[in-house]
Amino acid sequence: MNAPAAGQVYDLHSHSTVSDGVLRPADVAARAHRNGVQVWALTDHDETGGLPEAAEAASVLGMGFVPGVEISVTWASRTVHVVGLNIDPGHAGLNAGLAATRACRAERAQRMGQRLAELGMPGCYEGALPYADNPELVSRTHFARYMVDSGLCPDLRSVFNRYLADGMPADVPIRWASLEDCMTWILAAGGVAVLAHPGRYKYSELEFDALYGVFRDLGGSAIEVIAGGHTPEQYVEYAHIARHYGFLASTGSDFHSPTESRVDLGQLPPLPPMLTPVWTAWS
Ligand code: AMP
Ligand code: MN
Ligand code: MN
Ligand code: MN
Repeated sequence: MNAPAAGQVYDLHSHSTVSDGVLRPADVAARAHRNGVQVWALTDHDETGGLPEAAEAASVLGMGFVPGVEISVTWASRTVHVVGLNIDPGHAGLNAGLAATRACRAERAQRMGQRLAELGMPGCYEGALPYADNPELVSRTHFARYMVDSGLCPDLRSVFNRYLADGMPADVPIRWASLEDCMTWILAAGGVAVLAHPGRYKYSELEFDALYGVFRDLGGSAIEVIAGGHTPEQYVEYAHIARHYGFLASTGSDFHSPTESRVDLGQLPPLPPMLTPVWTAWS
């Protein structure tokens, strides 16, 4: 990757059509660059397939690029996302693990379709499939887009709130990767493991404490302090957590789409003071 200088604009969490984003990797790169991002990471869910196109596009634009991935993990019966940054995109062990993680999505998507049919909305599985560019990566987001476009719900937010959010009637819980395996894959691929958007998880304080401890013991080194889904209060909260547990701090918009994402690429506040940025781990 291109070596970044101090004071640069980083965005280290984003998605393309290779997972549940709506722009191709090269178009995410162009949008990041246009928005002033100087060091960008593409972090598609459970998939590294977009990284060669992303790296090439970033290189042509003269923008720093960090190869990344966002891995779906089940920990304490809930889903946690771990971002691997500065990974070797071609690492065989990592890619085998990701392929195994993706494998359960096909059946899950069919079962989500059945649940939605039972709720009076037939045809959602068939409807969602064409929204997924990558047939191995049908996600809840693709269902949600179909359901909005077909008039079943007014917007993405309400689809999740009514049907698809964790624990809602059409959310089919599955066992993703274990935290242990996920960390092994990221570290073996030379990456830095970052706990994504901690503000999203519905753990108790006790469970969070255990999660941070286990994550750190397994070689996890950073948490997202600035995340597209975090409130300004959560920036402060997770800055405190990072200092308390000795984590490096990461920042990323979690951009998926120009019309859906609350925060656009590069449109993030700077990291709060007294934190060590995650990029010190590789630059
Ligand atoms: P999946 O990997 O199929 O479980 O889908 C997870 C994706 O759904 C996340 O990466 C988000 O893009 C999206 N998502 C999850 N929860 C919500 C929510 N409450 N509102 C909007 N999008 C969500
Ligand atoms: Mn997503
Ligand atoms: Mn996520
Ligand atoms: Mn994400």
